[in-house]
Amino acid sequence: MSGTVVIAHLYPWDMNIYGDVGNVITLRRRLEWRGFDVDVRAVDVGVPFDFSDVDIIFGGGGQDSGQRVIGEDLLARGDELCALAAAGTPMLVVCGTYQLFGRSFTTVDGLEMPGIGIFDLQTVGSDVRTIGNIVVESPFGRLVGFENHSGQTILGPGQEPLGSVTAGYGNNRESRREGARTGDVIGTYLHGPVLPKNPRLADHLILAAVGRKFGTTELEPIADGLERRAADVAALRPR
Ligand code: GLN
Repeated sequence: MSGTVVIAHLYPWDMNIYGDVGNVITLRRRLEWRGFDVDVRAVDVGVPFDFSDVDIIFGGGGQDSGQRVIGEDLLARGDELCALAAAGTPMLVVCGTYQLFGRSFTTVDGLEMPGIGIFDLQTVGSDVRTIGNIVVESPFGRLVGFENHSGQTILGPGQEPLGSVTAGYGNNRESRREGARTGDVIGTYLHGPVLPKNPRLADHLILAAVGRKFGTTELEPIADGLERRAADVAALRPR
């Protein structure tokens, strides 16, 4: 396989906590191991960005303050991102960016930040932070990660979750649901970063991208023994 895959990294300076940039590194390496070239482009506040040849979009987690910094800029790009989502561009958004891909995020201090509405969900900050290891059963198998958020997310009636929580909390402390999925747009509270220990999820995003761009129907297998062992260890960690 060959060709260049373009990854847009949303606000890497303001929305990159708990190692979430590792997700971009994982996408890059799993593409390069399969013979693709990779071009990672940063989307920064106030800087024009052309999404027309972007194949994968990633956005990481951030403090409430970071979300305030990027919120208006993300809204300004909302229509374009919604159109890309509807057209099938694969996206992964984590925690703070996940929240702003919904309809709104209201911080624990009462500041409401409108979201771009790709997901039908709303998030409200809580005095009780949700912190700890988390395990989720999903269409991509068992997912392991770490969560740290004040936000309690409620999915709308038609919004598909990413999966069901078997350890930890996820979207909120009652629903036992984690994340959201609309087509190939995936939102999650899983930090860690999420992709290195969950290679099936990483490869789903990759295949969606190279399938759309190059007509690729299957990916060359990668020996994921180390990744699976890391996930097994993570799944056994106490909450
Ligand atoms: N600031 C948001 C919250 O506390 C998101 C946190 C994060 O991205 N880890 O819920």
